[in-house]
This record gives sequence, C-alpha cells and structure tokens, in this order.
Amino acid sequence: MNIVYSCPGCGGPTAAAAIETRPILSCPRCSRSISLPEGAILPATATEPPRLTRCVVCPSTELFVRKNFPQRLGVGIVVVGFAASCVAWAYRELFLTFGILFATAAIDVVLYFLVPECLTCYRCGARYTGPGITDRFGGFNLETHEKHRQQAARQGRPASAGS
Ligand SMILES: [Zn+2]
Ligand SMILES: [Zn+2]
Repeated sequence: MNIVYSCPGCGGPTAAAAIETRPILSCPRCSRSISLPEGAILPATATEPPRLTRCVVCPSTELFVRKNFPQRLGVGIVVVGFAASCVAWAYRELFLTFGILFATAAIDVVLYFLVPECLTCYRCGARYTGPGITDRFGGFNLETHEKHRQQAARQGRPASAGS
C-alpha cells in the first residue's frame, strides 16, 4: 500500500511505499514523522491484501475512491491536441483538424479507464494506492466533503480533499 500525503510539519507532498510494513512515516525534508496508528491497517491474509480502516495521517475514517489521474496531464493533452488542430486548421486540413480533436478526446477517455483508482482522505487529502485498497469504500460524497470543508474552515485549516 502506497501513500502520498501533505507533511503536517512542512506541508510538502510526501510519498511512501509499502506503508503496511513500517511503524512510522517520515518526511525527507523536515524529518517530521508520523506513527502509524494501531489498527489503521489490517494485515494481509492468505487471500486478501492489507486493508486500510482509517487515514494514517489524520484520525478520519472517511475516505473516498477516485481515479488517480493527474489532472494536469489530462489538461495538457487537451491543450496540445487543440494547438495541433489549430495548426491543421491553418493549413485548411479539415479532416486532420477534426481527426486530431477526436484523437485527443479518445486518449483522455482511454487514459481515464487505464489509470488505477486511489483512496483519498476527505479531511487531509492523503491518497492511498494498492491492490484491493478501494474495496471497502465508496465514491465521492459531496455532503461528507462539505462537512469536512466546514470543519477545516472553523479550525483555520486549508481543506485539501476534492480540490
Ligand atoms: Zn515535512
Ligand atoms: Zn486524513
């Protein structure tokens, strides 16, 4: 099971692999460490991969499933495709212009289905990936997101999930 989270010490993005095998996570920049809470990860059994029961960074048990798709990549593909279609348009290549636009859209759709799902914490935005990780959790719920956003606002914390 892998994690990407914002370090509570320096706020920077921190990644760690195989978190079920280690007692603590530590940040390479500010060396702030997080002890993995007991019971947060149920060990693997003969038939099942390790299971996450709650976020290991914050105490929240509310997590949602989403595609681990880097938004910037998706936008980048669209921008490049649009630029290429403008060049084709300038040369009066009508079929090429539309061909490029359709291909761009198709690449985005294919990528969307190819990328794995990840589990995201509503409260702190930590992301978890790994086999079977999303089995016990549902998709994004706006009400839960709103609840955490308002809690964060009251406590003066930036809300990270869903952004
Ligand atoms: Zn740090
Ligand atoms: Zn969290």
